[in-house]
Amino acid sequence: MNASKQIQIDALAQEIIDMNVCPDLKGQAIQLVIGDGNPNADIVFIGEAPGKNEDIQGKPFVGAAGKFLNVMLEAAGMERSDVYITNIVKYRPPENRDPTPDEKAAFLPYLLRQIEIIDPKVVITLGRHSMEYFLPDAKIGEVHGQPVHITTGAKETLLIPLFHPAAALYNGGLRQTLIDDFLRVPEIITRQ
Ligand code: URA
Repeated sequence: MNASKQIQIDALAQEIIDMNVCPDLKGQAIQLVIGDGNPNADIVFIGEAPGKNEDIQGKPFVGAAGKFLNVMLEAAGMERSDVYITNIVKYRPPENRDPTPDEKAAFLPYLLRQIEIIDPKVVITLGRHSMEYFLPDAKIGEVHGQPVHITTGAKETLLIPLFHPAAALYNGGLRQTLIDDFLRVPEIITRQ
């Protein structure tokens, strides 16, 4: 593991706390959930915001949606330790409500810096909340699973928008679509 990247991410987390980003969310959450996995990974997954389990454990995607994500990672030949997983909003919104546009905007510069530190080959957004800043005019129902080149900072990266595992968890059709998209990720990356 590249320790210096982890040190930079830890410093970024401390900066979010010190800068008092989204004080309302901060005041109601147990802790900041900055991210988890390998900061030296080629793939970064970006979800929406921590839920109850994530707030308790301080790690993203550890509840039901996270278990589904783990199953799909394994089916695609990956482990959590091969990838880095984070969210656009890094405190749990109360009652698991959707993050507001202001909350997403407040965290966006930190997310972009986090991506810059990790410098992945591929960014995979999970759901529309993290997709919309990279592809503001896209509809997830139309673009899911289709790789597109984006520029983050000074760098070009491959973005793959996927449905959110929580949305797909209890919806049979969406679930299969997400699994199919997910299983094509290794091939998309190899083709790169
Ligand atoms: N849903 C998300 O978007 N992120 C998490 O960390 C957990 C559930």
